[in-house]
Amino acid sequence: MTQFYNTLEQAKNLTCEEDKLTWKLEKDGKFKVKSAYKLLDTSTETKELWPWKMIWKGKIPHKVAYFTWLVARQSVLTQDNLMKRGKDLCSRCFLCESETETINHLFLHCKVTEKLWKYFINRRGIIWTMPRNTAEVLACWNRDGSQSGHKERWKIVPACIWWTIWSERNQRCFENKSIPFQSIKMNCLATFYFWCIHSIPKDPGDITLFLDSL
Ligand SMILES: [Zn+2]
Repeated sequence: MTQFYNTLEQAKNLTCEEDKLTWKLEKDGKFKVKSAYKLLDTSTETKELWPWKMIWKGKIPHKVAYFTWLVARQSVLTQDNLMKRGKDLCSRCFLCESETETINHLFLHCKVTEKLWKYFINRRGIIWTMPRNTAEVLACWNRDGSQSGHKERWKIVPACIWWTIWSERNQRCFENKSIPFQSIKMNCLATFYFWCIHSIPKDPGDITLFLDSL
């Protein structure tokens, strides 16, 4: 109680007006549903972190941007998502053939996909710990890797890896065809070259020269 009176004594601008409730989120002190809703909307922070620029502002074909958006939203029809929709499957990753196929496994942690990530990361010489999910990768990819070189080119690397991996996965799944890792890597690099330069590489040397400037 003493502390309460001490606090009152220290308070300035006290008047004899009757006490009333004030809504601190509005300048006039009056309650508004809009500001209350904003306070309760915990997704605001998530929206700000959502890497929409990485998806829609990159110089990639529109269908790839849309696909990248689906990967980031965890909505691509990998086996885990098909099972959530009621499909009865015995899930197995088509690339490594040892783990179950989930979006985060296929596009981030599969040992085949991991080699593609490492290839680009090693070229930049950055220290990179693979995040838990696809949206997080997009959120920190440019922050961690664009200190030097072409930012616009670096920005589209995740989309290029995901597009390559998804194409190979579908070849194995639907056409029962597979190519060795070196060919998957060449497909990825040739796609990357084409999206950046807008022409088809004449020979592997063109790609090597181009990647030196990454
Ligand atoms: Zn795998």
